[in-house]
Order: sequence, then structure tokens, then C-alpha cells
Amino acid sequence: MSIPCWERYPDLMDLSAQRAKLIEHLVKCGVLKTKRIVDAFKEVRRDLFVANETLQYAYHDIALPISNSSTISQPSTVAIMLELLQPYQGEKILEIGTGSGWETCLLSKCVGEKGRIISIEIDPEVEEFARSNIKKMKLKNIKTFVGDGSGGYSKLAPYDKIIFTAAIPKVDQTVFAQLNPKGRVVAPVGGSLLQIMKVFDRVSETKIEVRDYGTFQFVPLRGKLGY
Ligand code: SAH
Repeated sequence: MSIPCWERYPDLMDLSAQRAKLIEHLVKCGVLKTKRIVDAFKEVRRDLFVANETLQYAYHDIALPISNSSTISQPSTVAIMLELLQPYQGEKILEIGTGSGWETCLLSKCVGEKGRIISIEIDPEVEEFARSNIKKMKLKNIKTFVGDGSGGYSKLAPYDKIIFTAAIPKVDQTVFAQLNPKGRVVAPVGGSLLQIMKVFDRVSETKIEVRDYGTFQFVPLRGKLGY
């Protein structure tokens, strides 16, 4: 993917023009495809979720630091993950690793008012940052929690979909057990430095089908089933 020109001249365009350009770029590259996901990208401003020091880079296609061990994910990576997850209206989705809350709000827009997003974050300060960001969007279908989500969040299971936003060594049976029939998990699986994006579909009571989608680099999952 080539570097879009406004990334080299960030001061030449205001943030809303940069946002429009980034979305246009992701659509042109074929990374963003599904209308409700494209609409979510238009409605949820990434500049509301980045740290003040990095505001001018909000629409660069890069991950940005939000704490020592958390980042707001790269827009193209989030787009790829949401396209693989295919969140539908009315679904109940578990997100593991709330981070900035940006992806949480994108998911919220995709599932609509009848859907629910449960998001779990291990770092209390990051969860607080996410909560204050999410508040700005006035969305009523999101619930965030502080805790170790490496084994999912069985308290509120079952879920239609589960998404890991941090690298995980292996998706465990504990997580699959929290899926509805026909449920799906999207997760970057592998070592702590590089991972393969994987889609796990629950095709029957006992059978999970797996597909691979390229190499990525995520922050490592902490906690019991992390690294
Ligand atoms: N998609 C998010 C990025 C999140 S980065 C965004 O765009 O903002 C991954 C997050 O996972 C980090 O905030 C990290 O603190 C969190 N995390 C790591 N291990 C975790 C665990 N075991 N349970 C829950 N969250 C975890």
C-alpha cells in the first residue's frame, strides 16, 4: 500500500479533510468494502481517540501510542479486522483489548442500537481513557470492563462474535465455548513479535473452521492465556 500524499504534508489539510482522504484511500485499496463499516469509519472520528500529543497524526495510517503498552490500532488493520469479523445489526460482540475505544465505537455503530458491545481491558488507566473517549460518542450499546480477557469474558457469554485486538499465542477452547452457534472469532495469533490474522468459524457444536489472512504486528496480550 503506498503512502498517501497528505501523510507527507500533514499541515496542508485539516483533520476532517484528512479523514475523508484516508477513508477514500482505504476504499480505493479494497481494504474497506462493506457499506456499514465504511459508514462507521465516517461517523467515528479517530481524532477523538488519540492522545493529544499525536493529534496531528490521527489520520495517518499508523498505530499511535496511547500508553506504555497500548496503541490505537492502524486504521487499515482495523478495517481488515472489521471486514473479516463482519459485525451485523443486532449482534452481541466481545472485544478483548479496549485500548482507545475507537474500534469499540466502530463496532457499536456496525451492530446498531439493538446490538451490544462488551469490551474488556486489562489496564485500568487505559480503560478509563477509553471510557472518557467513548462518552463523547454518546453511544448506549457499549459496556467496558477492567479485567483479564485472555480467556474471553464468560460472565456475559454467549457472543455472536469475539475480536482480539492484541496478539494471542493460541485461541483456547474456553473462548470458543463462549460463542453462539455459527459464531466467529477474529484474532492475531502467533508469537509476541509477529502474528497471522485468523478467522475461526464455529460451524457445528464441536467443529471450528480456521482461515488465515496475512501477517500483522500487534501489542502482546497479557494475562493468564497471554505471553
Ligand atoms: N483496537 C484498539 C487497540 C488496542 S491495543 C484501539 O484501536 O484503540 C490492545 C489492548 O489490549 C491494549 O490496550 C492492552 O492493554 C489490552 N490488553 C492486553 N492484554 C489484555 C488482556 N489479557 N485482557 C484485556 N485487555 C488486554
